[in-house]
Amino acid sequence: MTTLTLDRLSVDYGETRALREFTLSIGAAELVTLLGPSGCGKTTVLKAVAGLLAPAAGDVRFDGASVLSVPTEARGAAMVFQKPLLFPHLTVAENIGFGLKMRRQSRAEIDARVAQAIEWVRLPGLEKRRPHELSGGQEQRVSLARALVIEPRVLLLDEPFSALDENLRGEMRQLVRELQRRLRITTLFVTHDQREALAVADRIALLFDGKIEQAGAPRDLLLAPVSARAARFFGWTLLPGDLLRPEMAASFAAFRPENARLCASDDPTGQFDGILESMIDYGTRRQWRVRLAGGEIVEGDQLSIPGDAAPAPGERVKLAAPPDALRWFPRDHATQQIAE
Ligand code: ATP
Repeated sequence: MTTLTLDRLSVDYGETRALREFTLSIGAAELVTLLGPSGCGKTTVLKAVAGLLAPAAGDVRFDGASVLSVPTEARGAAMVFQKPLLFPHLTVAENIGFGLKMRRQSRAEIDARVAQAIEWVRLPGLEKRRPHELSGGQEQRVSLARALVIEPRVLLLDEPFSALDENLRGEMRQLVRELQRRLRITTLFVTHDQREALAVADRIALLFDGKIEQAGAPRDLLLAPVSARAARFFGWTLLPGDLLRPEMAASFAAFRPENARLCASDDPTGQFDGILESMIDYGTRRQWRVRLAGGEIVEGDQLSIPGDAAPAPGERVKLAAPPDALRWFPRDHATQQIAE
């Protein structure tokens, strides 16, 4: 089991600085997801770990030892890409065994390890097929087997399932999680899908503009974001602070939509004025969608009390967020961007 340390890593593509003093430590057998908007540098982190690019500054260490001078093929990092990149003329078994063949393993050793990897990813019976005879999900299972068969010190997954449909994605996610735990492989898993990150991660590292914004347990990122843009990324509603307090114009008032309560426009506990856009009554719960005065849309649901009159779409309403569910964040330039 290997620990992975990224120490103040900076990476440039010509004039573009893709990573800025990026620092993250991943424990032995830990699965960390790298999450963040498109272009924030997620793939660049994986490439730096795999040795596919040379950082401008900083260090990459496996078990505390720098691997910057170790060539890609000798690092012991295996990467799975969004596109399977299999050799079209080789069979499933040959594709999986290719890395072992390059490492000059014996025929018997290769056969045994390939058979085991095929078992791991649940592809028995398909050994002799070629990539064009496989479904998208099966192709990604082959890619995964090809990565695992070399017993990597570090497994790098770059949005490996984003081309698959939702059900299959869930299944593949579970398979990765199960194998990663069973084989105890230190893993970095890139995704831009927060649900995926929440579902598989021991820890999540959230990136913006080539830097870590927040790293921690999934629950902490979801419920205790450190900044307005982290909150926005995890689905919090951010509203101009002066809607609640005139002196807070330079801040955002933030709450999770599930903590907001819909109330009548004359309810003194209501805090934010808006118009009810839609309301679906499921008998015991009402699902609502409100457009606030500033144009922000908030969706939530709440228990309905039998017999109480529900407001109708188009009516003026108010939303209330309990004080302990409210967080305040400064409005910085980054949140100005996401608030647009
Ligand atoms: P996505 O989620 O869209 O895959 P990402 O978070 O993986 O994005 P990277 O691919 O790491 O982002 O790219 C980080 C930044 O570096 C982006 O601004 C991107 O445009 C830039 N970049 C990436 N590769 C190159 C390259 N080969 N040449 C120039 N700029 C690049």
